[in-house]
Amino acid sequence: MILPSHATLAALELSDPAVAAARDRLVAGGRLTQEDGVRLFDAPLLELGRLAGAVARERHGDRVYFTVNRQLNPTNVCVLSCRFCDYAKKAAAPDAYTMTREQIVAHVDPGISEIHIVGGLHNKWRFEDYLNVVRWVKEAKPDLSVKAYTAVEIDFFCRLTKQPAEWVLERLREAGLDALPGGGAEVFSERVRRELFQQKIGGRRWLEIHEIAHRMGIPSNATLLYGHIETRAERVQHMILLRELEDRAPGFFAFIPLAFQPGVTGLVRRQASAIEDLKTIAVSRLVFDNVPHVKSYWVMLGQDTAAMALQFGASDMDGTIGVEKIAHAALAPSPVGIAEEAMVHAIREAGRLPVQRDALYRVVREYGREDRAPAAAVGTPAARAETPASR
Ligand code: SF4
Repeated sequence: MILPSHATLAALELSDPAVAAARDRLVAGGRLTQEDGVRLFDAPLLELGRLAGAVARERHGDRVYFTVNRQLNPTNVCVLSCRFCDYAKKAAAPDAYTMTREQIVAHVDPGISEIHIVGGLHNKWRFEDYLNVVRWVKEAKPDLSVKAYTAVEIDFFCRLTKQPAEWVLERLREAGLDALPGGGAEVFSERVRRELFQQKIGGRRWLEIHEIAHRMGIPSNATLLYGHIETRAERVQHMILLRELEDRAPGFFAFIPLAFQPGVTGLVRRQASAIEDLKTIAVSRLVFDNVPHVKSYWVMLGQDTAAMALQFGASDMDGTIGVEKIAHAALAPSPVGIAEEAMVHAIREAGRLPVQRDALYRVVREYGREDRAPAAAVGTPAARAETPASR
């Protein structure tokens, strides 16, 4: 049976058997299995893109979302030492930093609608210090949507305070938190965790914290760090676990595949190819039948691949960011920030309609197809020195 909402999918002519089978299953109202997802990675890229792109268009039409935001990384001091992280420093390191209140508040530009706050697990900070960061930015701009602290940080606050996640999240909400970012998920594989980040929380705890947040009415995102030692099967398993959580406790806005930046970690010689990036975006769009957006995170994909991903199922390009520190500490070659006009230009150039949103996906501005502005990336790779892995 063809569901009426899938008429355009049903009309797609596809020659690859695996992609055509995926289409048929979706059209019949079914969902892709672990085996389907793994098989799709071997399908021809353009066939996969046609299907994933059509699924995204069924959901969002030509709209592609982004936000005018700033990233705030209040400290790079971290008690953990994840192998893939070039950002974290020990307190005594010469390039360790901890921002003052003035430096933190200076990140609240008048024109932004979202602030994204993540950082290290500081050896001296108390929970109150992390609460203050949220309070200060909210006080500086009360209408700002505050997306702050990964599940790794929330778990750290539970240990600091000896309180359950519900208590920690309620205090953060009182301070001004609106949503959780999706970082710290890495790959929900115990094999990978043991090798790369064994001190850090694993998949079970990450999923538990996000489930608690969703049940409290705090929405969030979810990430996947790929392109290191994980297998494609582990990637798909990660997606299925997130999809199951979304079934139990809805609250994810977006799934964000993060391309691992090798930096000086020595884990892999080079970043995943653009083809692997686009396949990961497309497969995730097809697996996640219950999450609104798949995000094309230009900081780690690079601007060109990120724009191309809009034809492969992505419907969100994250934000203008200001000064990004985490991926750039791992030598990401993208600019450290991108101007609003450049974001609008990139989305229009891909034939799509830019829509500015806040962290809660409330529409701030619709741009239409006109007023083509020249692209103007701001910041240069040379400015990366100031800049922090997978947050
Ligand atoms: S990934 Fe996060 S928890 Fe791990 S060392 Fe880096 S900052 Fe610390």
